[in-house]
Amino acid sequence: MSAPATPPEPSWIVPPPPPASLPVRGRGGRFAVHRIYGVGRNFADHAVEMGHDPAREPPFFFQKNPDNLLGDGADFPYPPRTAEVHPEVELVVALGRGGRDIAVAAALDHVWGYAVGLDMTRRDLQREAKALGRPWEVAKAFEHAAPCGALVPAAEIGHPRAGAIRLDVDGERRQAGDLAQMIWTVPEVVATLSTLFELRAGDLIMTGTPAGVGPVRRGQRLHAHIAGVGDLELAVTG
Ligand code: MN
Repeated sequence: MSAPATPPEPSWIVPPPPPASLPVRGRGGRFAVHRIYGVGRNFADHAVEMGHDPAREPPFFFQKNPDNLLGDGADFPYPPRTAEVHPEVELVVALGRGGRDIAVAAALDHVWGYAVGLDMTRRDLQREAKALGRPWEVAKAFEHAAPCGALVPAAEIGHPRAGAIRLDVDGERRQAGDLAQMIWTVPEVVATLSTLFELRAGDLIMTGTPAGVGPVRRGQRLHAHIAGVGDLELAVTG
C-alpha cells in the first residue's frame, strides 16, 4: 500500500490574501473574520437625527469587507473622495457558530463574543447614494472603514443588554447612549440576518449607533468605549 496521496498544492496565479482577524483580549490566538455586516438605524435617537421615523420597522443591513478591519491603536488614514467622514460607535457581535433561520431564543448560543467598533461612514457619499437610490458600498466599505477593538468572549463577560456606549473626539463627548436603547436586540438582529444570509463562525455584526454622529478631521483622536466590553482608540491621519 502506498501512502495516501497528499492533495497537490494549488499553483496560485494570484496568492490568497492573509486572513482578516481580530485579537482576543487577555489571551493569545486570533479570531478569523469571515464577513462583516452592519445594521442600519438601530437607535431611535440616531434615526431621528438622520431624518427618519424611529418606528420599529424591520432591521436592514449592509456589509463591509473583512479587509476593511483596522485594529486598536492604529492610524485611520483620512479616506479619499469625501469631506465628511463620520465615526459611529457600535457594539460588535462576533459569531462562533453559523446557521440559517436561527430562532431568536437560540441566537445568543451563536455569539462567541463582543468588541467595540467604529462604523466609519463617508456621510456625503452615503447621502448621495440614498438620494439617487444607489448602493452604499462607497459610503461604508472602503479601506480601514471597520476599526474594531479586541474581542472579549461572552463566556467571560456574558451578553451585554445594557451599558454605556460612547465616543469621544479629542476628549470631547460626541456620542453617548446605552445599549438598552437598541431598537432591535442582539438576538433579534442575529435571527433576522440569518433569514437573509447563511451566517458562519467568524462573522461580525456592527449593531448600530446612538445619536451624536458628526465629522472628524485629520489630526483628531477618537476614543470609543462600551461599558463591560472595552475601548478602541484611533488617530485620524493623512
Ligand atoms: Mn452604523
